Amino acid sequence: MADTQFDLVVIGAGPGGYVAAIRAAQLGMRVACVEMRKTLGGTCLNIGCIPSKALLVASEKYSEAKHHLGAFGVKVSGVELDFAGLMKHKDEVVKSNVTGVDFLFKKNKVTRILGKGSIKAAGTVLVTKEDGSTEEVTAKNILIATGSDVMPLPGVTIDEKRIVSSTGALELEKVPGHLVVIGGGVIGLELGSVWQRLGAKVTVIEYLDRILPTMDGEVSKQSQRIFGKQGIEFKLSSKVTGATVEGEGVTLTVEPAKGGAAETIQADIVLVAIGRRPYTEGLGLEAVGVELDERRRIKTDHHFRTNVAGIWAIGDVIAGQMLAHKAEEEGVVAAEVMAGQSGHINYDAIPGVVYTWPEVATVGKTEEQLKAEGVAYKAGKFPFTANGRARSMNATEGFVKILADAKTDKVLGAHIIGASAGEMIEELCLAVEFGASSEDIYRTSHAHPTLTEAIKEAAMAVAGRPIHM
Ligand SMILES: Cc1cc2nc3c(=O)[nH]c(=O)nc-3n(C[C@H](O)[C@H](O)[C@H](O)COP(=O)(O)OP(=O)(O)OC[C@H]3O[C@@H](n4cnc5c(N)ncnc54)[C@H](O)[C@@H]3O)c2cc1C
Repeated sequence: MADTQFDLVVIGAGPGGYVAAIRAAQLGMRVACVEMRKTLGGTCLNIGCIPSKALLVASEKYSEAKHHLGAFGVKVSGVELDFAGLMKHKDEVVKSNVTGVDFLFKKNKVTRILGKGSIKAAGTVLVTKEDGSTEEVTAKNILIATGSDVMPLPGVTIDEKRIVSSTGALELEKVPGHLVVIGGGVIGLELGSVWQRLGAKVTVIEYLDRILPTMDGEVSKQSQRIFGKQGIEFKLSSKVTGATVEGEGVTLTVEPAKGGAAETIQADIVLVAIGRRPYTEGLGLEAVGVELDERRRIKTDHHFRTNVAGIWAIGDVIAGQMLAHKAEEEGVVAAEVMAGQSGHINYDAIPGVVYTWPEVATVGKTEEQLKAEGVAYKAGKFPFTANGRARSMNATEGFVKILADAKTDKVLGAHIIGASAGEMIEELCLAVEFGASSEDIYRTSHAHPTLTEAIKEAAMAVAGRPIHM
């Protein structure tokens, strides 16, 4: 008979849940992970971070070959899109990632249970299998890591064919003529970029008066300018109030956000990307008395304990940014605290990246936040137009901006828009994590010629002494 008694049962095998399961197993716990999807890895590996990045990279290469290699003296002709090949690349990347988690579970002796988990009582999880049969597993601790789901928009019914969520937008059967993206956040811009590069006309409709609304204001303004130049159209301060599928197309009704005359927009495909909501459906939380907040996220303390002893929660299903690496950090801390260790997460040091071209990356506070908090700060900025490596790459758009405490020089926030911003931000995450000053950054040698010299120069600009500007 299968083992049904564990030290920890994790519900959900996304980056939060599978990482927590592995860390707990490393610490000597007997761990089971209940996942209703046939493959491991959650939203991130199956229908999120990984497939979207596979399509972003592939579409970037296509666009580069078609439009940008000539400027380097590389002549290419007859560049064609092999749509099936592009999708195959994405599917293979997903497959190798999800099977990688299977391997890690086996290696760490984590028991994988296929089915939908619900909490019967503290210490008992009921698993319902696809065929309707059930199994009870017991554990000292239960960790909820059920993640999030697409946020619906009233009046716009997702059918995953004409009106799609991010999941459907990763599976389109052909390049649409006109793709309308509702929502100018990270997911909308990334997937909008993919289809725009492949030849679609893309219109982004955003309720607020700017795209990437949680990012530093200067960064969101600059990114809109750059994406606009690439051909993406933006309709800001506008709300979609209805959508009707007619034959091969969709008619959207759009109004000014503040109210006013409605207009209609025709689209071949509509992508609803207005955000995600915590996934708590069918978990039995009400019956066991686990408290939720006003946005139906599971409430926890800073060590991820819920109000019910022995029940913990991490990742997208609790408060905070919906990011895979944030879920992973929380999974590790939760497992270590369960094992009697201590743990802490500095949320100011968790980066956010938008994998468009150029990339956008951020860590710590924005200028708007520092102003609102009344913190005296100095800003240093350096443009990639003045960076040798960026010039050699024909990638001179964007800048690095560092915000440091006016008195102590401690780095409080950093924002990059530019090629490889997502890789470069890590230096600044380390600076925030270690409480480094901008002087610490510029006294550190940066290899020449690299894009990271722009970070050093931005740090020098905080002190009013950049060399190359
Ligand atoms: C298109 C897209 C692109 C993204 N790109 C990025 C990116 O580049 N970088 C980044 O950091 N983040 C990205 N994200 C966000 C990222 O995917 C999430 O933040 C991350 O997956 C959250 O991890 P999690 O473990 O909390 O939950 P999830 O990954 O959502 O995993 C939860 C799992 O729990 C399972 N589950 C739910 N309920 C039950 C139940 N009752 N029983 C059994 N199983 C259950 C689900 O099937 C799922 O597999 C992206 C998201 C999307 C949609």
